[in-house]
Amino acid sequence: MLNPDLAFRKLAALVEPLEETEDVALADAVGRVAAVDVPAPVDLPPFDSSAMDGFAVNAEGLDFDGEKRFEVIDRSLAGRPANQEIKDSSSAIRVFTGAVMPRGSNAVVLQEDVDLDGDVARTEARVQTEQNVRHRGQDVRRGSLVCKSGTPLTAYRLSWLAACGIEKVRVKRRARVAVFSTGDELVEAGTPLAEGQIYDSNRFALLALLREKPVDTLDMGCLPDKPAEVRKALERAAANADILVTSGGVSVGTADYVKSVVEEIGTLDFWKIALKPGKPLAVGRIGDALFFGLPGNPVSTIVTYLLFVAPAIDLLGGQDLAPPIMVPAVLDGGIKHSRGRREYVRGVMRTEDRVVRVAATGDQGSNRLATFADANCLIVVGEDCGDLCEGDHVQAMVLSGVAGHPIREGVA
Ligand code: AMP
Ligand code: MG
Repeated sequence: MLNPDLAFRKLAALVEPLEETEDVALADAVGRVAAVDVPAPVDLPPFDSSAMDGFAVNAEGLDFDGEKRFEVIDRSLAGRPANQEIKDSSSAIRVFTGAVMPRGSNAVVLQEDVDLDGDVARTEARVQTEQNVRHRGQDVRRGSLVCKSGTPLTAYRLSWLAACGIEKVRVKRRARVAVFSTGDELVEAGTPLAEGQIYDSNRFALLALLREKPVDTLDMGCLPDKPAEVRKALERAAANADILVTSGGVSVGTADYVKSVVEEIGTLDFWKIALKPGKPLAVGRIGDALFFGLPGNPVSTIVTYLLFVAPAIDLLGGQDLAPPIMVPAVLDGGIKHSRGRREYVRGVMRTEDRVVRVAATGDQGSNRLATFADANCLIVVGEDCGDLCEGDHVQAMVLSGVAGHPIREGVA
């Protein structure tokens, strides 16, 4: 059995990042990966501006602590700069957030700190040079990078590019991912179950998870447990896809043909990882395509997708892999664990009295989707770790799409 970290390093060495790129409009770039460095075409903000509503003054020569009086001579609104300039320390120009700082001014006195009587503004507040002023280029200087090649384009980053007036961005092409199920027992939803049959859930799970990725998915249906058919289907798909993902048929049963077919028509790079769930994971290549033979048990399929297929897609797309954010948490209840394999336990994490606590969702059988349905994290139990007890400190990895709502009644 291969150590999971070593397996991942072997996998990473097999991935050759895509070279093809395309230009897409900014609005279509969410979730894609930047294929070039992007410099800011303008300074941001493009001019010195006020950070607050108030009065622009020249702070030099003002009495720092005492009362100050100004004659208000003009106003500067966002998009409508003042005509006048500040020539002395007894003049002020009314300014609003985002408005151009009038010529000759270098500080903004907050509106709340000022008594206004006609055109006369009075304040006792301290006034310091630069206060409440946003300088031209403070957010980003023209020519410096707003995005490096290999960066995933989140809505947060793209907003910054939008603020720079960028209309389109060059991104990596979408990888093509072909997804198969295997097994004579599987039927599609909508068909009544005959004896011994079950519904195919893995293909659904994989296609659903792949929606978060910048890929085109090819739904290749379900393959019977017949080596000739598996072979024909995989060969054909390898010519059209960058990644092939199957589930089932990689264990040691008599109907498990997938692995031997891959050995025949391609290369099997590794098989059997010291992982729970997910031990029978098989990784190889068929032609130019990467091949993932995921274990058939539905929980194993999802876990091996998260740990191996998802990051391989990111690497293929030329992405720099971000380090995982592991959350330290206090364990509620215990977890039985025998040494030898690293285990990813479905759990529910919550914050209570400012402490992050986590509990396993229940029976961790690799067929039990019920205990995945309730989970928001995977608790990582190391290969050298024995049983865990109530109150032990553990690490958990948050599952995507379950962050919860930041402001809600009753939050600690
Ligand atoms: P296998 O490795 O092919 O023996 O599969 C292991 C277990 O996972 C068996 O109980 C299969 O019936 C089940 N399984 C395999 N593929 C799927 C699938 N696509 N959807 C649901 N269960 C599956
Ligand atoms: Mg099977």
